[in-house]
Amino acid sequence: MKKFKTESQKLLDLMINSIYTNREIFLRELVSNASDAVDKLYFASLTDSDIQLNRADLRILVSFDADARTVTVSDNGIGMTQDQLDKNLGTIAHSDSMAFKADNAERQGDDVDIIGQFGVGFYSAFMVAKKVRVVSRAFGSDEAWAWESNGVDGYTIEPAARDEHGTDVVLTLKDNTDDESFDEFLTEYGLKNLIKRYSNYVRYPIQMEVTKT
Ligand code: ADP
Ligand code: MG
Repeated sequence: MKKFKTESQKLLDLMINSIYTNREIFLRELVSNASDAVDKLYFASLTDSDIQLNRADLRILVSFDADARTVTVSDNGIGMTQDQLDKNLGTIAHSDSMAFKADNAERQGDDVDIIGQFGVGFYSAFMVAKKVRVVSRAFGSDEAWAWESNGVDGYTIEPAARDEHGTDVVLTLKDNTDDESFDEFLTEYGLKNLIKRYSNYVRYPIQMEVTKT
């Protein structure tokens, strides 16, 4: 088990304990990361003739499993190596203003206004998830690795399997409480609405896979 960097852990604590009403922006953040990853691969292919890609194959896939209470965002973009999983997800790389606002909110005991306007990134997954598992295979590599965390104790990185390059981000949603339910993220209707609301700008097809039970 590895520990998060101090700044990252602060932001994570904020996310985990968030009472922020726009918790659903986690999907926007994960889809935008998926889109960035596909962009990176696509742009690399423009300048590197060794990379043979069919642009039509590039896509983002959102799926859920109501029984397992998981929501998954998958892409077939550039993927991450073991080292990149560690660096990119273990250390928060956000602007100073984000760090400042997170600090400030902590002091004021008020997290209502900090999240909406600008990207909070990957860690926003912890507003809705009790566990996040990221399985990734970097383009050009035949190894896949899984990064896993509950946001509290740190994270692990272990060997995994994935058929092609790209990344799956699997969220195990928090348990419902008397005050809060996460079930809206476990329906086709709920997820499609969020994708429509937040993902207009994404230049790749977002497909949805429904697990029939
Ligand atoms: P940002 O997108 O603003 O850089 P995030 O917190 O959203 O910050 O993500 C952190 C980093 O993790 C990204 O910069 C990227 O390097 C990596 N990352 C996250 N999701 C993916 C993904 N689906 N594929 C490849 N890399 C990813
Ligand atoms: Mg991002």
